[in-house]
Amino acid sequence: MTETKDAGAASRTEDQWRAQLDPDQYRVLRQAGTEPPWSGRFVDHHEDGTYRCAGCGAVLFGSSTKFESGSGWPSFFEPATAEAVELRTDKSHGTVRTEVVCRACGGHLGHVFDDGPQPTGQRYCINSLSLDFAKE
Ligand code: FE
Repeated sequence: MTETKDAGAASRTEDQWRAQLDPDQYRVLRQAGTEPPWSGRFVDHHEDGTYRCAGCGAVLFGSSTKFESGSGWPSFFEPATAEAVELRTDKSHGTVRTEVVCRACGGHLGHVFDDGPQPTGQRYCINSLSLDFAKE
């Protein structure tokens, strides 16, 4: 499997994203939407492999860091690499959260919380719609 990133992803226009992504993916990745809990295809997904950005293909999470959070969204205790994601303060919805974004394309992935398991204590709460999966 190639690790090559989608070089044009960072400069893609919103019209191009709309053409590339299906409407549900567009709403989550480009408009910071959230899929309904328990609706995503990776919530109860347990195969060994790699989760990539559904927008640009960047490697984001490995199956070995996935855990059962009970939240209704796929949950990971760390990203594949620190550089894979960018964290941003999100003050929407009357609260302060930390948004998780794909560093390569700027796509919204989900949020990270401090109530995860060891070894990191972090819970990356990620929309299935933002992810693609490839078996190991
Ligand atoms: Fe991406």
